[in-house]
This record gives sequence, C-alpha cells and structure tokens, in this order.
Amino acid sequence: MSIQTVGIVGAGQMGNGIAHVFALAGYDVVLNDLSQDSLNKALALIDKNMVRQVDRGSVSASDKDAAQKRISTTLTLTDLGQTDLVIEAATEKEAVKQAIFEDLTPHLKPETILTSNTSSISITRLASRTDRPEKFMGFHFMNPVPIMQLVELIRGIATDEPTFKACSDVVDRLGKTSATSEDFPAFIVNRILMPMINEAIYTLYEGVGSVTSIDTSLKLGANHPMGPLELADFIGLDTCLAIMNVLHDGLADTKYRPCPLLTKYVEAGWLGRKTKRGFYDYRGETPVPTR
Ligand code: NAD
Repeated sequence: MSIQTVGIVGAGQMGNGIAHVFALAGYDVVLNDLSQDSLNKALALIDKNMVRQVDRGSVSASDKDAAQKRISTTLTLTDLGQTDLVIEAATEKEAVKQAIFEDLTPHLKPETILTSNTSSISITRLASRTDRPEKFMGFHFMNPVPIMQLVELIRGIATDEPTFKACSDVVDRLGKTSATSEDFPAFIVNRILMPMINEAIYTLYEGVGSVTSIDTSLKLGANHPMGPLELADFIGLDTCLAIMNVLHDGLADTKYRPCPLLTKYVEAGWLGRKTKRGFYDYRGETPVPTR
C-alpha cells in the first residue's frame, strides 16, 4: 500500500524527531500529545533542529519550510484515524500504549498500519489487543532520530509480509537503514546496549569508579562516542529502567536485574537530560556529575 500520511502519538524526544524526518521526506504528519505545551515544545525543537541542518547545508531553507508546513498537531487522538501509518511513540509503559491503541483502533481506516516505537515491549502482545495484529509491527527509531541511521523493524508473530514490506519501504524513503529483529524482549539494540548501561550504573553503585571515570574509561578505552552514564541521561533514566524491567521479567534471568541506583534516580524524578538532572546536572553551562 502507498503511505502518504503518518500519525504520531507522543511528541516527546522520539515523537518530535520522527515527525521531523517524515516531514522532510515528504510525508504529511499529524502529531498528537496530551498537552498543548508538549506539542508547542515539539514544534520549537523541530524548528531548532532543522535550522541546524540548514546552517550545516544538509537541508535547504525552502525544504525546511515545506517540511514544517506538512506537520499538523492535535490533542485529539482520533484525528489520527485517517492516516495511512500510525507510529505510537508515547511513554514506555505498556498500560499507556494499550490504552492508546484501544482508543484509536475503532477510528482507523481498515488498511492503516499500526506500529509502536517501543524500545522493549512485546510487539506480539501489543498487537494481540488490537483489531489488526497482521497490520501491526515494531518501528523502532534511534535517538536522536534525525541523526541516527538505524531503524529496527520488528515482526510480531502475526505481522504479514505486505505490512513488513510497506514499513521497510518507508525506511528506504526516509534515507535510513533497517535491521530486522524477531520479537523478543528489547529486540537487538537494547538487548545488548541496556545491560551495558546497567552494568555501568552498578560500577558506580559499588564505588568502582566515579561518573567521570566510568564515562572517560568507555570513551577513551573502548572508543565509545559517549560514556554509558552520559548516554543513559540522554536516553532517559525512566526509559532505561523500563527496558531493564522488560528484560528481567521477559527473560527471567538475574543478569538483567536493574541496578537499585537506577531505580533511586527514577524515584527522585532525576530522569536525565529531559528533567535537567540525572547522572549529570544540566542546569548550568556545562554538565556536572551528580555523584
Ligand atoms: P518522552 O518521555 O520524551 O515522551 C513521551 C511523550 O508521550 C510525552 O510527551 C508524553 O506527554 C506523551 N504521552 C504519554 N501518554 C500519552 C498519551 N496517552 N497520548 C499521547 N501522548 C502521550 O519519551 P521518549 O524518549 O520520546 O520515548 C517514547 C517512546 O520511544 C518509548 O516507547 C521509548 O521506549 C521509545 N524510544 C525511546 C528512545 C530514547 O532514546 N529515548 C529510543 C528509541 C525508542
């Protein structure tokens, strides 16, 4: 099927980036969130990030303007009903995602493909609670979406081939590269990445190293572009904890036990960059380690 209009649920870090890349690729985008404030913030961020691309010469000013005109916003979820493809990018909580699909599906066109940007939750289980498990799959973008090349495509047990092909074609049109993962907890990228981040937090928790020594060690010793704690703040500590819980519950192996210090930061509401505090404090000019 041909996809021209895309509905995005959730205008947070991921939702605004997804809207950005789809609009630049010529799709019409309808972006939904719970508050006008979130939608306004998302539009402002899209503008800021596109200005950066224009300044670098990777996008022309006229393409930027045309892309921004293709993005509309709404507080009414059912306004996404007439789109060809829906990407759910709301908070990483199964109950939240399930409620969104329950509210939205009665309003969808029969042919609309429904996808989730979840980092870890079972696609098969999410799909089974909709009216279209065969037209449901995982569409997992990486953060920051305009910069990261990979999109993980995840087939649920019922996903049909035309749906998979349509999503794979969309990734091509976005100029990105897809990798296919089977539907097991946290898929490929986070199955490997998140235990490393969790281990870095254990390393801090057990006093093996400070925030600075852990991040410096991995940057200079393993050639990682960001240290694991810096990366955790970037991803969002609530999202990191949610993914570790999915790995722990889904694979029933103690090696995935979330570090108690990660839980503590989330309990404090120190969720990383998005709340200006996590393993670093971002309220000043330069980030300062919080431990
Ligand atoms: P975020 O906290 O930045 O944004 C989530 C947004 O969803 C918020 O704006 C919130 O208001 C909105 N929301 C919550 N409930 C909603 C509802 N019922 N209807 C509409 N909007 C709702 O989170 P994020 O980092 O953008 O993560 C979103 C999804 O993307 C999660 O499933 C996460 O696992 C996944 N993901 C995150 C990353 C990452 O690095 N942060 C990477 C890949 C995938």
